[in-house]
Amino acid sequence: MADNPPKVPRRPILQTITTASVVGVTGCLGDADQEGESPSERAEGWCLEELSDEVPEEFETMESVDGRERDPDDIVTREEAGYVCRSENGQLCANCTFLITSNRSGFAAACTEVSGEIRTTDWCGLYQPAERLEE
Ligand code: SF4
Repeated sequence: MADNPPKVPRRPILQTITTASVVGVTGCLGDADQEGESPSERAEGWCLEELSDEVPEEFETMESVDGRERDPDDIVTREEAGYVCRSENGQLCANCTFLITSNRSGFAAACTEVSGEIRTTDWCGLYQPAERLEE
């Protein structure tokens, strides 16, 4: 088991994400009102209805790909994390240090920091590169 580095304080990050999301949503609404919804705007949350808000029991305390522990009492919602249904400049759950992978049929993946099911092709504001990418 790898040593768990200190947890990153999430409150300042979440405040930034929340502020950015409000500005982004406001901007999107403004654009949609004037010109209709663009494909990139539609992509932001299109997958959320397909994702379960729960993770299978065995994932509740499972470790991430880098051995980070998942504490179900210390995680945030996808909304709080600024989760979007797309990658961000090459960053995505598949190469994030917090990813918990799954071969379970019908279940995509989980995360040590964010509640519910996630997809390996998506991204959130808590992203940190997996250790294999830092070497
Ligand atoms: S990008 Fe966000 S949701 Fe995806 S694995 Fe990393 S912390 Fe979890």
